[in-house]
Amino acid sequence: MSVPNALTVDVEDYFHVAALSSSIPRDTWTSRESRVVGNTHRLLSLFEQFNVRGTFFVLGWVAERYPELIRDIAADGHEIACHGFSHRLVYEQSPEEFHEETLRSKDLLEDIIGSRVLGYRAASYSVVRDSLWALDILVELGFTYDSSIFPVHHDRYGIPNAERAPHRLSTPDGKLIVEWPLATASIFGLRLPVAGGGYFRLLPYWLSHWGLASINRRERRPFIFYLHPWEIDPGQPRVPASRLSRFRHYTNLGKCEERLRRLLGEFRFGTARDSLVQLGLLS
Ligand SMILES: [Zn+2]
Repeated sequence: MSVPNALTVDVEDYFHVAALSSSIPRDTWTSRESRVVGNTHRLLSLFEQFNVRGTFFVLGWVAERYPELIRDIAADGHEIACHGFSHRLVYEQSPEEFHEETLRSKDLLEDIIGSRVLGYRAASYSVVRDSLWALDILVELGFTYDSSIFPVHHDRYGIPNAERAPHRLSTPDGKLIVEWPLATASIFGLRLPVAGGGYFRLLPYWLSHWGLASINRRERRPFIFYLHPWEIDPGQPRVPASRLSRFRHYTNLGKCEERLRRLLGEFRFGTARDSLVQLGLLS
């Protein structure tokens, strides 16, 4: 398996998370303690130690407030990609709203880094069966790849029987976009999400490792892995939320950085864009 796995970070603060949105009204975001700059810098120095480059899907809201952070990420040789502007779920927006906020975020990021942004990832993987129209808008806006489809069952996202490997996907309007679905391991015909984030914190490390290694060894292809800066920050302010949301958000925050260190030592990583070029899916 010579093509590197894709290491990706969704650059957002702990208060942007969809699972906590009912307890954190949008109009309180600006008054909360922001921790995204410090946490992202910790990830940058960790990646530097392992000499690894990755793809950072940046939320426009963060880029607007901290443009220097985005320049620092790009200056370290990482790929800058787009995580929308507002972190609103795609299927809760109209196509017009989605077009407007995605363009706003892409333009902002391109202005900051002075080069094109090709990749997109939706807030909380919210490209689902009913919001596939978003892919047409991504093509129209000049994105060449998307990594928003999670091929699993989940209460908030997922297209359970979607293709698992990176591929060219035909949009509802018949255009083509490259899709890199979040990583799942195939086990006895079931799909185990081993893509990162909450799954990486909740599952035992050996299980994540086994699942990811099986994609490299058995399926002979790279996987795409994601993490959020707040996932290595056990000191973040706690907010009241449902038991399930608290479990998903707060479990093992203190163990995550050490696990990530292990992962970076045990697998080969690069940017999503470079891997897709090596796979022949992007030019
Ligand atoms: Zn997000």
